[in-house]
Amino acid sequence: MTAQIIDGKAFAARLRERVGEFAASFAEKAGRKPGLAVVLVGEDPASQVYVRSKGKATIEANMESFEHRLPDDTEEAGLLALVEELNADPAIDGILVQLPLPDHINEQAVIAAIAPDKDVDGFHVINAGRLAVGQRSFVPCTPLGCMMLLTDRLGDLSGLEAVVIGRSNIVGKPMAQLLLDANATVTIAHSRTKNLPDVVRRADIVVAAVGRAEMVQPDWLKEGATVIDVGINRLPPEPGKEKGRLVGDVDFAGAQQRAGAITPVPGGVGPMTIAVLLRNTLVAAHRNAGIDLSEDVV
Ligand code: NDP
Repeated sequence: MTAQIIDGKAFAARLRERVGEFAASFAEKAGRKPGLAVVLVGEDPASQVYVRSKGKATIEANMESFEHRLPDDTEEAGLLALVEELNADPAIDGILVQLPLPDHINEQAVIAAIAPDKDVDGFHVINAGRLAVGQRSFVPCTPLGCMMLLTDRLGDLSGLEAVVIGRSNIVGKPMAQLLLDANATVTIAHSRTKNLPDVVRRADIVVAAVGRAEMVQPDWLKEGATVIDVGINRLPPEPGKEKGRLVGDVDFAGAQQRAGAITPVPGGVGPMTIAVLLRNTLVAAHRNAGIDLSEDVV
């Protein structure tokens, strides 16, 4: 069997286009564009790249982008004061504080300061709690993007066996919650799981969110399984090359021979994350302005 490639890049491009159209019609109704504020503290090069591409994507989706770049030595109190200002600003529908923050700032305190209705990253405990009890919330972008790819591919997930490898608050746990809401039978595996290959072998759906290059081996997979690879890992550079290759948590070449469908790295889950961030911002704008939006259409 040769697996179908789940093209997250193409899916994300379509989602961004749809969000852009809805954002334009929101602007007509509300007299303003949806607004996303992104806060970056410090000079971390990877974070700078993320923030730049989020800003560009926001503008391309007919939204207003508000970027706040603060120096590395910003005090926690200063950052909290900025978050309060953004909470109170009616032009801003979504607030994203780029993580990781410098060590002297308490990340949890900063996330807790974001108004839950503007928490488009879905990291606030109120949103995590709402997701856990099945109430309307903001769902973290990466797992929601994985879920869109899964339902697009498989339709109804009822009764399917799903194994999520990884239990972080931003990927593994919300992913498991979404699968459970979709009536899958869900197992969450982690670093203490015994006989991980056997656990994975029973899965119709495997979501790997570990951060270990090519850990999931082809013979761990049930024939025909749908594999969502969240991992982004850089291999050491080959001789003569400056940078190593990006790979996921799944041995892609081998898994392609066994799985029914699989997301590549890059070009799978990665592009979905920004697209869903824009989607969440669009949803926040409609909720904040009291304008109807059928949230299923985005
Ligand atoms: P974390 O480091 O927070 O969590 C990793 C999880 O993997 C933990 O639950 C850990 O278990 C588990 N784990 C570690 N080693 C093993 C092992 N040997 N066997 C089984 N489970 C193991 O990572 P994140 O959830 O933040 O991210 C996971 C990956 O996804 C990373 O590669 C990250 O770069 C990528 N990522 C990609 C995004 C995208 O846009 N595509 C967005 C976010 C993340 P335990 O809890 O027991 O320690």
